[in-house]
Amino acid sequence: MKILAIESSCDETAAAVVEDGTRVLSSVVASQVAVHHVYGGVVPELASRKHVEAIVPVVREAVESAGIHRSELDAVAVTQGPGLVGALLVGFSYAKAYAWGLGIPCVGVNHLEGHMSSIFLGDTPPEFPYVALLVSGGHTSLYYVTGPTEYELMGQTRDDAVGEAYDKVSKMLGLGYPGGVVIDGLARKGDPKAIAFPRPYLDKKAFDFSFSGLKSAVGRHLKDYPDPDEVRLHNIAAGFQESVAEVLCHKLIYAAKVKSCRHIAVVGGVAANSRVRAMVGDAAARRGLSFHTPELKYCGDNAAMIGAIGYHRFVEGSALGLNDDAYSRARLPSNTKHK
Ligand code: ATP
Ligand code: MG
Ligand code: FE
Repeated sequence: MKILAIESSCDETAAAVVEDGTRVLSSVVASQVAVHHVYGGVVPELASRKHVEAIVPVVREAVESAGIHRSELDAVAVTQGPGLVGALLVGFSYAKAYAWGLGIPCVGVNHLEGHMSSIFLGDTPPEFPYVALLVSGGHTSLYYVTGPTEYELMGQTRDDAVGEAYDKVSKMLGLGYPGGVVIDGLARKGDPKAIAFPRPYLDKKAFDFSFSGLKSAVGRHLKDYPDPDEVRLHNIAAGFQESVAEVLCHKLIYAAKVKSCRHIAVVGGVAANSRVRAMVGDAAARRGLSFHTPELKYCGDNAAMIGAIGYHRFVEGSALGLNDDAYSRARLPSNTKHK
């Protein structure tokens, strides 16, 4: 079954064709980073306008580079929320109209379920059950996953999401938006032990997170050492990153232990982080756990992941009506079991 997937929840206009929820026939991502960079963050109105410009060529390219004709599509899947509502509406309205024009169903999916399902893209998806850490620009949550659309929330951040902390620290350091990749790159040149930033474990046996204190610790360090030279800048990045990675790694591994689970996963934009991947990979290997994380191109926002979850929702019989609307806020959908 071939699904055209569309994603426009934030500042990426993306389309993909995905077969049976796992095989990516094409994946196109048009990033607006250059547009928002000068403002130090995403400007919602500009994002909507850029989506309007990009949606037609991006979808066309996804269908063409999949090597199929649109008449071969079985369904369209689209991000319905959460995200910036003006941005969402562009992809959402386009997807409904595209599906209606072809006489095929359109399935609305949750963006976070998309990130969770990015793990199914490729040949070696994890076995159920597994514990998944979702780390993105807006979310930091631990889930116990028992099926393709069955998640139990184990814990989440009480304040900043990890990606948000990266972006805020990047701004403080004058490195601009988005900050994750830049800090990751600088951190590799620094000494992670040179500056002792706190480890925000909260309770070591709890699964909630908190990153605003760590962000403030970087701010205080910068008050003591304004205008850091290159060496200090690298050490700040490395120290911050080490603290983040240690806390994420500890909680994920501990969650697997509590659930007696042999499989773990890290998904979302921050899953692209080199230190998080390496540290969790080492910890998993030492304990004989199988560790899954998406290819780098499927960590940040993309439409292939929307095709992966869209497939499962389609099989379950989910379909949008033409009057259905996008939504700006949501947790994982209704069959999520919250503790
Ligand atoms: P959400 O998915 O929660 O709605 P979002 O879609 O904005 O938020 P993603 O696209 O999943 O978030 O991830 C973007 C975030 O990932 C940004 O905050 C970015 O700084 C961060 N990020 C990207 N690459 C890296 C990296 N290598 N290291 C750390 N953070 C990174
Ligand atoms: Mg983005
Ligand atoms: Fe996202």
